[in-house]
Amino acid sequence: MPRNPRYDILFEPVRIGPKTAPNRFYQVPHASGMTNAAPHARAAFRGMKAEGGWGVVCTGACSVHPSSDDSPFPFASLWDEADVRAHALMTGAVHAHGALAGVELWHGGAASVNRTTRHAPLSPSGVPWMATHVGFMSSARPRVMDAADIRDLIRWHAEAAVRAERAGFDILYVYAGMGYLPYQFLLSDYNHRTDAYGGSVRNRVRLTEELIDAVREATHGRAAVALRISLQELRARPSEVAESEGHEVISLLREAPDLFDVKMDYSATDCAPSRYAPEGSHEPVVDFVKTLTDRPVVGVGRFTSPDTMVSMVRRGILDLVGGARPSIADPFLPRKIAEGREAEIRECIGCNMCISSWHDGVWVRCTQNPTAGEEWRRGWHPEVVGRDGADRVLVVGGGPAGLEAALTLARRGFDVALAEAAREFGGRLRFEAALPGLRAWGRVADYRLGQLRQMANVALYPESPMGAEDVLAFGARHVVIATGAEWLPVLCGANELPAGQTGAPRVHTPDDIAAGAVIAGPVAVFDYDNNYMGSAVAESLAGKGLEVTYVTTAGAADAWGVMTNEQSLVHQSFARLGIAQRTLEIVTGFDGETLRLAQIFSGEARSVPARSLVIVGQRRGRSALHDGLRLADLKGAGIDRLHLTGDANAPGAIAHAVYQGHRTAREVGLAAADLRVLRDAPFAPRDVPAPARAAE
Ligand code: ADP
Ligand code: SF4
Repeated sequence: MPRNPRYDILFEPVRIGPKTAPNRFYQVPHASGMTNAAPHARAAFRGMKAEGGWGVVCTGACSVHPSSDDSPFPFASLWDEADVRAHALMTGAVHAHGALAGVELWHGGAASVNRTTRHAPLSPSGVPWMATHVGFMSSARPRVMDAADIRDLIRWHAEAAVRAERAGFDILYVYAGMGYLPYQFLLSDYNHRTDAYGGSVRNRVRLTEELIDAVREATHGRAAVALRISLQELRARPSEVAESEGHEVISLLREAPDLFDVKMDYSATDCAPSRYAPEGSHEPVVDFVKTLTDRPVVGVGRFTSPDTMVSMVRRGILDLVGGARPSIADPFLPRKIAEGREAEIRECIGCNMCISSWHDGVWVRCTQNPTAGEEWRRGWHPEVVGRDGADRVLVVGGGPAGLEAALTLARRGFDVALAEAAREFGGRLRFEAALPGLRAWGRVADYRLGQLRQMANVALYPESPMGAEDVLAFGARHVVIATGAEWLPVLCGANELPAGQTGAPRVHTPDDIAAGAVIAGPVAVFDYDNNYMGSAVAESLAGKGLEVTYVTTAGAADAWGVMTNEQSLVHQSFARLGIAQRTLEIVTGFDGETLRLAQIFSGEARSVPARSLVIVGQRRGRSALHDGLRLADLKGAGIDRLHLTGDANAPGAIAHAVYQGHRTAREVGLAAADLRVLRDAPFAPRDVPAPARAAE
């Protein structure tokens, strides 16, 4: 299909200093969990985005020196020739598709406490960075940099820039954001210095300016130099000479970098979950930058709509449309717009499973794109699946796992029937996407149904509950069972092992609410799942006007939400909605009027009045259909193999169900020997000789 002319502007080239981006689609630096220990996996992950049409593809934060060590979070480095070789694979993969490759030179300062390298953390004035936030917690406090340290920092950037250019990068970043070292110099809260680098905004900007100059000089102006800067706090601070300190900083730096990459200050606002922040949520903070500089500006906002992207450019907010999450969810987003296939975009749902991978210290995983991180290891392409199937396949269950399995099997060429008991497809999403803030999660079903409905080799059967006899009689060669999971109405002990039921009236699970149960208030929500469901149910009930008490075994509401950047926002939301919180407690009894509780560690008994109890605890796979199909009957019915997948196999997040569904579909009809799983390995410094020193 031809491209919609409305989107032509997105395909204009943009000059970035000495380089030219072929279009306005710019994959900004973002964490992938793929450090230099996985150079082939990383190259394939980034290269896929270049293949999908992103004009600029950046790698994640890259430490310039061992005094910037983010462990246990995964981070890349540019410390030596082994690192150069590792990154060269990525730039080669990106260049192969005509895109520019960028690298974010990074020094974490007080925010990276060097757990592995054991260097004393560096800072402008000895102020730690959010030391009590769980992910960053450490007893290490930074030391104050002296003039020699500042000179070293500038030299480390220059040396890393030389290595970056040798690795093939076109755009080199200076990173003054998110609490990292140059950012701490910019903010008076962290910078109390009385030398030329502290005091006035002019002085606080000096380090950033000198870093930009050093990177440019080290590469003799051949590479473009970008400045990544956080503006949330700076814009909130008054200035005597400008609208805000943010305005003052940008004015002072307006001609320094070749590109401004503008963002928020904290992970929870920068990479905000869709539950609490809509597309384009950065705009009120970054919208002024282009009024103060002629240099191109890139910014993000979880943009998935080409109309919003065009509007950002036409309204003069951005020159380049930045994407991190949208590029993970759909590496082919630009190509789809270019080919008039924007309806086929696999839109990011803003669930932040991707960022949780970084917090977990593992390769990126994505709810919408199960192939993310598997491009090299398993050879999975997000758009292309070998057409190697023809047999009839029956998929039972139309939730995320069943939909993904059906779609991937259909792409492989199988003749696919998808049977779903309910009138609507979507499985758990039918309920979950209706919870407060979770509407965008419905895209998981919408994208897959949109594709399936157009495929000639797919038959969709809603309102078709399947029993064992129906499966046997269907005449399929392969059967995939994706029948989901159910919540159990059981309490738990202090060790969080599931315990018995209460036997009281008005005890519910999320499944009961999904089925339309009317909840009487006051209601207690007991959460020992500690993921989004407990807090979302509490918000939903409070939104209906009920008095809600949220009880959790954890030390804070939505305990796992710290991994997805939701937790702080859940706490804000609970405060807004007046939801009472009780932490580190278990429910020991309920009689329909009073809830009995015990403190986890002391066992001290407490009680609160409640007429209903909602338990969000354990889930169990709904595998009865699978388990009831006996091998002999399957053989007799001509069924080659029965697969159990998704939550029915192992209950988990939607991302896990989609991944399982995808993997099952890739494996149907194949023998184990046909499936490849490669193992990546780093280049070790001893394997890579340093280049000969040029004659002085
Ligand atoms: P997953 O996340 O693994 O996809 P879900 O719970 O979201 O799991 O979806 C499972 C779907 O399977 C639900 O929509 C449910 O109605 C459907 N289902 C369960 N049992 C049957 C069955 N016997 N026949 C047809 N559909 C079923
Ligand atoms: Fe978007 Fe969720 Fe995928 Fe992250 S994991 S890119 S937030 S869909």
